[in-house]
Amino acid sequence: MCIDLHVHSIYSDGTNTPEQLIHLASKAGLAAIALTDHDTVAGVEEMLYLGEEHNIKVISGVEISCMHKEVPVHILGYGIDHTNEEFLNWISHIQNARIERNKHIVENLQGIGIDVEFSELSQYSKVGQTGRPHIARLLVEKKVVTSMDQAFRQYLRRGASAWASRKVYSAEEAVTVIHRAGGLAVLAHPGTMNRSHAVQGNIIGELCGVGLDGVEMYYPSHTKKIIRRLKKIVQRYNLISTGGSDYHGGNHTGVFMAGWTERPCPPECLLEHLLAGLQRVKKNQSNAALLS
Ligand code: AMP
Ligand code: ZN
Ligand code: FE
Ligand code: FE
Repeated sequence: MCIDLHVHSIYSDGTNTPEQLIHLASKAGLAAIALTDHDTVAGVEEMLYLGEEHNIKVISGVEISCMHKEVPVHILGYGIDHTNEEFLNWISHIQNARIERNKHIVENLQGIGIDVEFSELSQYSKVGQTGRPHIARLLVEKKVVTSMDQAFRQYLRRGASAWASRKVYSAEEAVTVIHRAGGLAVLAHPGTMNRSHAVQGNIIGELCGVGLDGVEMYYPSHTKKIIRRLKKIVQRYNLISTGGSDYHGGNHTGVFMAGWTERPCPPECLLEHLLAGLQRVKKNQSNAALLS
């Protein structure tokens, strides 16, 4: 059986509800799934409940956009206590920074003569964290562009005419907060970060120095060559491996949940190492509590 440890829902920039995601996972015969919305755990409770109902193992998750030195990285948090107050408080600052950034992007669009209003975004992002894919959808609907891809290329990607930065935390801080909430920190889609594998190796090594627990080994755009390279890194630093599709529903055409494509699925055996890692985190936490 296979698993999918990287999917997005309407609580960030996916287009499926947790219920729809569980139904898709169930139809694909997945053994486990993790909801990893950007900068929010709002859908996790619902997902855990639905998993029990449908007999699919659900791992709580989140995907945090952060920086390691000058490099933007995404850190996945797995098995976190989604009710942990310190974590929720920390993440609320990122959520506020998102709102500010979205306002700046809309202002930038207005500045180059595009007729958009901040209030229009709520039609595309009703319950969760609003991101650039929602702005891209708005631009498609308004016929400013013909595709979301064009919206990113022309206006929204880093450095494009309407792009705006936002306050982001360091990967080190993200890893620390994830650990304190009882989770494991995994570098998302390392194969998409930089073409130079040497540089990737260094970044992973440096992140291990600040407590990184694993890397996302299986990912739709990871070639056999990238996987071979990552396996060596995993061995060298004694990391866990995970895998997922990064399914976003209609917000990312051409990407499907694991089990819905011909591509090899992340195997169920990955789960064993993840769960063993989580046991270690829990044990360390209780040892630390005994000592304090
Ligand atoms: P944000 O979280 O607002 O920084 O937006 C990042 C999201 O945009 C990620 O989920 C990316 O997968 C998504 N994204 C990046 N490029 C594109 C694209 N060309 N079309 C659709 N989504 C994209
Ligand atoms: Zn996304
Ligand atoms: Fe990502
Ligand atoms: Fe993602």
